[in-house]
Amino acid sequence: MTKKIKPETICVQAGWEPKKGEPRVLPIYQSTTFRYETSDQMARLFDLEESGYFYTRLQNPTNDSVATKIAALEGGVAAMLTSSGQSANFYAIFNICSAGDHIVSASTIYGGTFNLFGVTLKKLGIEVTFVDPDGSEEEISKAFQPNTKALFGETISNPGLNVLDIEKFARIAHSNGVPLIVDNTFATPINCRPFEWGADIVVHSTTKYMDGHATSVGGAIVDSGNFDWDAHADKFPGLTQPDDSYHGLTYTKSFGKNAYITKATVQLMRDLGSVQSPFNAFLLNIGLETLHLRVPQHCRNAQQVAEYLEQNDKVAWVNYSGLKSSKYYDLAQKYLPNGSCGVIAFGLKGGRDVAIKFMDSLKLAAIVTHVADARTCVLHPASHTHRQLSDEQLIEAGVAPDLIRFSVGIENADDIIADIEQALGQ
Ligand SMILES: *Cc1c(COP(=O)(O)O)cnc(C)c1O
Repeated sequence: MTKKIKPETICVQAGWEPKKGEPRVLPIYQSTTFRYETSDQMARLFDLEESGYFYTRLQNPTNDSVATKIAALEGGVAAMLTSSGQSANFYAIFNICSAGDHIVSASTIYGGTFNLFGVTLKKLGIEVTFVDPDGSEEEISKAFQPNTKALFGETISNPGLNVLDIEKFARIAHSNGVPLIVDNTFATPINCRPFEWGADIVVHSTTKYMDGHATSVGGAIVDSGNFDWDAHADKFPGLTQPDDSYHGLTYTKSFGKNAYITKATVQLMRDLGSVQSPFNAFLLNIGLETLHLRVPQHCRNAQQVAEYLEQNDKVAWVNYSGLKSSKYYDLAQKYLPNGSCGVIAFGLKGGRDVAIKFMDSLKLAAIVTHVADARTCVLHPASHTHRQLSDEQLIEAGVAPDLIRFSVGIENADDIIADIEQALGQ
């Protein structure tokens, strides 16, 4: 399919292009393995001399079709699915870092990613420096070291809802010779395509808006193909030096712009195996077919709910980048002109206890450990997703102790507002 095709058409059509007599709908290749006629044919696949399917831990046609669709939506050259957003973030970093390396990350990121970077990567010998993403270029640049291998941030942070100045981050990353990795989960490529602003790698928790129906945990990694690994060959030996586990093949030489995703597939997925099940990929694809319809409805509803909350006396503060009062309004106008996402953060007068009473009184909005699906849902990060963080870390992650994360669904906005109103009256 040509690059000119618009996002709406990509959502519906890209990825699976059946030939004569093949199923119109993307089939679920629910098979661990694939048949060959000679032993030599299979051997060539293992040596990466030919591409082809042989074992679903590495690649599966259903998964690849969906990855191709996501790559097209983001405007990237290659993509892969992973079993979760967590594994997508882990692979995105681990593909270019090993013990003794260092990354710089915005501090305002998803709690799970904060733990992954600050605790688990540390155990593997990879250090992270968290920076305030709203800091100046000079301030953020100070965090870089000779062994720094990547800069990381979220387009719209979960749950603080900070909007990332992607161009600024890309300049900082590139002037330090490293790629910018952006988690685009909340914005989705319908509202923002980070590659157009200089990001090099995009990651997703497809569990959220992409699936959209809360059926399947999943993740994706997309490569823009723009970062020149060979220009910084000494920093990225894993991509630019021979891989002993494939008889000395060098990824950048053999795979060009596909080097990064190929390495993550044939090396990390082979060895660590966080594969998405083809059935989940099938469900994800159905979600993607309506992403372009659902995302604008989430944004319209969230705008109405945010405006309602802002004028309500019981509400202490509201953070939604579609409100003129938001610190991120200008950045959102630039990077997210069609709307940001359906998630709103707010606090009630009276703080934590009032927040919990309010949440317990909601009827339509359910308390769930989830966000960004068709049904309105709500969570108190300080008591739930971010429980493990100290108060100091909470503030650093942009999560006020009284913050309520309200994920506006695609129901009728009047009904959502009526539910909030009755719960505030309790
Ligand atoms: C949920 C989420 C993740 C983790 O994804 P899972 O699919 O739950 O593993 C990572 N980043 C962001 C921004 C998220 O919202």
